[in-house]
Amino acid sequence: EITPLIAGNWKMNGLSAQLAEFQLLGEKLATLKDRRAMVAICPPATLLAAMSEKGAVNGIATGGQDCHASPSGAHTGDISALMLKDAGAQFAIVGHSERRADHGETDAQVREKAQAAIAAGLTPIICVGETRAEREAGQADSVVATQLAGSVPDAAAANEVVIAYEPVWAIGTGLTPTNADIAQMHDGIRKLLVERFGGRGETIRILYGGSLKPANAKEILAVENVNGGLVGGASLLANDFFAIISAA
Ligand code: 13P
Repeated sequence: EITPLIAGNWKMNGLSAQLAEFQLLGEKLATLKDRRAMVAICPPATLLAAMSEKGAVNGIATGGQDCHASPSGAHTGDISALMLKDAGAQFAIVGHSERRADHGETDAQVREKAQAAIAAGLTPIICVGETRAEREAGQADSVVATQLAGSVPDAAAANEVVIAYEPVWAIGTGLTPTNADIAQMHDGIRKLLVERFGGRGETIRILYGGSLKPANAKEILAVENVNGGLVGGASLLANDFFAIISAA
């Protein structure tokens, strides 16, 4: 039995005032009996240290949204995995489709970032997912298989990693795949992980992400091989995120 992980991705949202919402989430979680899920939020880097300090008190882990492949150096504007760890993070999202699209990140780069996260003692949340055009062309499975093969480092054989399946067309659109499509994709990812990593592949969490919200969380999180969720918009509101956590 895999403990589900519900991770929030705040993306480029949140000034310090937004920490009040995080505080509220902590208070609500404290009232939840039998919480099944592990909870994490990946805020913008500017809030990471403050959130990690509060999170340590109310049982919410934190993560970065990206990391550089090197531990330090002349890379203006970048943040290393070691810095995220130093600020209190336990996770680092790598290879989010917005990074792949906005910054041209390749599978090879994502793999290096995931490797760097592991080396720094973080758990990488490695994102994969097809575009609408790729799904319509019947290429969803092959695109995700290629991303997975290229983005997941060999070190996953001996270290904790998390996979997040996020169909690009479902992100921020209110659209979601059918439960059958989610089941099929997560099954396929599970098979590939087991093929590559043996028994260890059985225990790697596979999160679903893309327009996850209180209204659909229960049914999506119940799909076989869905071991939690990566939540964008709905993680910004304590009430919505709490409802999703309660559904896990
Ligand atoms: P939404 O939940 O806003 O669709 O975003 C999903 C996502 O990209 C999480 O990483």
